[in-house]
Amino acid sequence: MNGTLELNGIHAGYGDFQALFGIGLRVEPGEAVGVVGPNGAGKTTLLRVISGLIRPTSGNLHFGGQDLATTPAHLLPSLGIAHVPENRRLFPHLTVEENLKVGAYSPSARAHFAERRDRVYDLFPKMKQRRHQLAGTMSGGEQQMCAIGRALMCAPRILLLDEPSAGLAPIVVQQVFDLVRRIREEGLTVLIVEQNVAQVLRVVDRAYVLETGRVAAEGRSAELVADPAIRRSYLGGH
Ligand code: ATP
Repeated sequence: MNGTLELNGIHAGYGDFQALFGIGLRVEPGEAVGVVGPNGAGKTTLLRVISGLIRPTSGNLHFGGQDLATTPAHLLPSLGIAHVPENRRLFPHLTVEENLKVGAYSPSARAHFAERRDRVYDLFPKMKQRRHQLAGTMSGGEQQMCAIGRALMCAPRILLLDEPSAGLAPIVVQQVFDLVRRIREEGLTVLIVEQNVAQVLRVVDRAYVLETGRVAAEGRSAELVADPAIRRSYLGGH
């Protein structure tokens, strides 16, 4: 199992509504890859397909050679796939540390709880200071960091991040992207969905541009930043 994520010809939607039309995407181990595009392009739907919350109507998807289309969603964490959803879904009435415990619910993760928690606290010293605080009383940026920390507790091989910068003040957005950069520098594979195209292209190796459920462009970050059409549509350029 080499941990490559590979999607081919993925069609998916909600009932009669089709949101994705033949998506192909590949993420190699150790890569950080972005999915960008306007509202409603299908970015969140794509992550839901990868994490088994929505089944594709056609196409195939594999992670490390394992067929994800037939793997029950609850088994995905054991394959090493961790999804941080857009609204973070922390348990607001549990403390930071209790939320981390929830992330380490499998028997093997429970056995490594202290070691992984300490690693999360090394990555986010602020979480250590706040470990006894109720998650729901923290700022949006702190909650995002806690949600990412919780996902790291199952020692994933790939981290799926849905709009980690959504609703955050610019300075906090910067901190969240710095964190993503540190996570990928540690060698973790990251697939990140973002509307903040300028910021995400600074931390990923490659990106896919999704428009109305189709891949409209893809390339290395530097190529996309230099592309006049991308600059015009997404980077406020000319
Ligand atoms: P945003 O950045 O606004 O979150 P997105 O690119 O993530 O947008 P999706 O949330 O994947 O886009 O939505 C793609 C399309 O699917 C949209 O037209 C949306 O209205 C539709 N859609 C999303 N979730 C559902 C749902 N649960 N039921 C029905 N349609 C949905």
